[in-house]
Formats: sequence, C-alpha cells, structure tokens
Amino acid sequence: MHIHEFQEMMKRLYFQRDFDRGVNGTFNWLVDEVVELGEELKGIDREATEKEFADIIAWLASLANIMGIDLEKAAINKYNNICPKCQHSPCHCTF
Ligand SMILES: [Zn+2]
Repeated sequence: MHIHEFQEMMKRLYFQRDFDRGVNGTFNWLVDEVVELGEELKGIDREATEKEFADIIAWLASLANIMGIDLEKAAINKYNNICPKCQHSPCHCTF
C-alpha cells in the first residue's frame, strides 16, 4: 500500500467526521498522538509504540484530507531521494 492509498482509506473511513471536527480539532488530536508516542518511547512496550506510530500517520492523513493535501505527493516533492537542504544522499548537512 502506498501513502496515497492509505490516505484514501482514511478518507473513506473518517472524512465526514474529520471535516466536521475541522482543522484545529484534528491538529490537536495529531499533537496529542505525538505526545503519546513520546511517552511510549520511554518504555519498552514495542506493540504499544507501533500503535502510536499508526495513530500519528492516521491523524496526519486525516488532517491532510481536510486540507486537500496529497501526503505522498507532498513528501516526494520535498524528499525525492536527496536531502532538500544540501541536495545530497545521504545528507551532508551539519547540525
Ligand atoms: Zn542535508
């Protein structure tokens, strides 16, 4: 399954509810899920951590659906086999 297909599945499952909740409410859910992932990363429960990753991509897809943004296209446009800052693969940026 490609990112685009996953996003379309999320649209079929949840679009009306996501649309009714709106951008701010859906963004807040995404942020809550990121915080939950942060908590899981402190522990040792691999299965729970995987589920938090799943929740984050699901809420990110929901938010993109509301905004009319194609996640796969956006990701590939920015990260197309090279670092968008230094134009190298692997990245040569210094932090
Ligand atoms: Zn770089």
